[in-house]
Amino acid sequence: MAAAPSFPAAHARVPWYSHGTNQRIVVPQDPFRYSERLQNIRPSGIRKFFELGLSMKNPIDLSIGQAHFDTPDVVKQAAQKAIADGRNRYTVTQGIPDLREKLKARYAARFGDVSGEDVMVTCGVSGGLMLTFLAMLNPGDEVLIPDPYFIMYKHLATMVSATAVTYDTYPDFRPTAQRIRERITPRTRLIIVNSPSNPTGYAMTEADARELAALADSTGIPLISDEIYEDFMYGARHVSPREFTRSCIVLSGASKSLGMPGWRIGWMLSPRELSEKMYGLQQFSFVCAPAPLQWGALAGIDLDFSQHRADYLAKRDFVFEGIRGRYSCVRPGGSFYMFPEVPKGAKLDTFIEACIKRELLVVPGTACSDRASHFRLCFAATDEKLRKAVTILNEIAASTA
Ligand code: PMP
Repeated sequence: MAAAPSFPAAHARVPWYSHGTNQRIVVPQDPFRYSERLQNIRPSGIRKFFELGLSMKNPIDLSIGQAHFDTPDVVKQAAQKAIADGRNRYTVTQGIPDLREKLKARYAARFGDVSGEDVMVTCGVSGGLMLTFLAMLNPGDEVLIPDPYFIMYKHLATMVSATAVTYDTYPDFRPTAQRIRERITPRTRLIIVNSPSNPTGYAMTEADARELAALADSTGIPLISDEIYEDFMYGARHVSPREFTRSCIVLSGASKSLGMPGWRIGWMLSPRELSEKMYGLQQFSFVCAPAPLQWGALAGIDLDFSQHRADYLAKRDFVFEGIRGRYSCVRPGGSFYMFPEVPKGAKLDTFIEACIKRELLVVPGTACSDRASHFRLCFAATDEKLRKAVTILNEIAASTA
């Protein structure tokens, strides 16, 4: 048997021939050298906790952001039927018409006239964000993102050689037009808003949304509204800035609401012409969202979410009321996160270490913020785990007081 070929040594001297002179030139070259773009991308601080959780026997894992309920049976059955029926081929890149039409009708009912817009099915909201960044950002352009932010925004900007510039939303986490306006430069091309928010749980009010819409209209800088947690609202209705301006791309998806983050189904409402350009980008990258799972998502679109909403409201109240005596925290209006401040006198690192020692996993704020003062806690967990978490958090705060 022939010996397996060995990998070329890093920095092997690889000869090549100059085109102009046909001279043999030898250059030191690592065959697997990284692109500059990759050198600026570090693994998500949140994934680290995911892996740590896998190595623990029975952790109280409040680190990873996904609903704790499973995909509804009707959705699973619809996907299984689609597979059995042979719907396993590529779909058209923009997604199956039935799902797109249903989503478009839903947006029309909410926003009024959307005839100039198009709904495209994407590989999760992540896929939609990637297409939007690729379609709208040139190298050197700036995209405004909230601080604290969903970690992906920053790295996606790097991937397209643009710069993510944060607008500070501390201490109340409101993405106000004033806070955003201060960060606009001639290079600003997009403004990202995310309500309700990961990681803070802040849900924008109608007044916030109207101001943001006016900002987009007056500056000509469009909003990218990430509404993936739109169903997880506790009290007030979900408000989208798209209600007040057409200068807004809306992204949402099924990962959170249908408990199927592994299925990779998202969607995007955007101006028709831009959307059609993005078909090309999707065609040459993701190709299409998983075909049978689009049929599954279609079966779940109209499901009643009220029971999950009530459950999560109770969880939010339980954790928020449980820790508020010892932690300063903004009460989340939506999503399933809280972003409390570490107890006075404690350092973020030592606080996180104390949590890990007790097998409680939460995310240090530094994974999703320029500041090192808060931590993210995901309350999409069983009541039993949340009870234990509240006890541990209070004990840690008492020991640092
Ligand atoms: N936006 C936000 C704010 C998120 O929290 C997430 C998932 N954590 C995503 C987008 C990506 O979701 P998807 O699974 O649809 O790609």
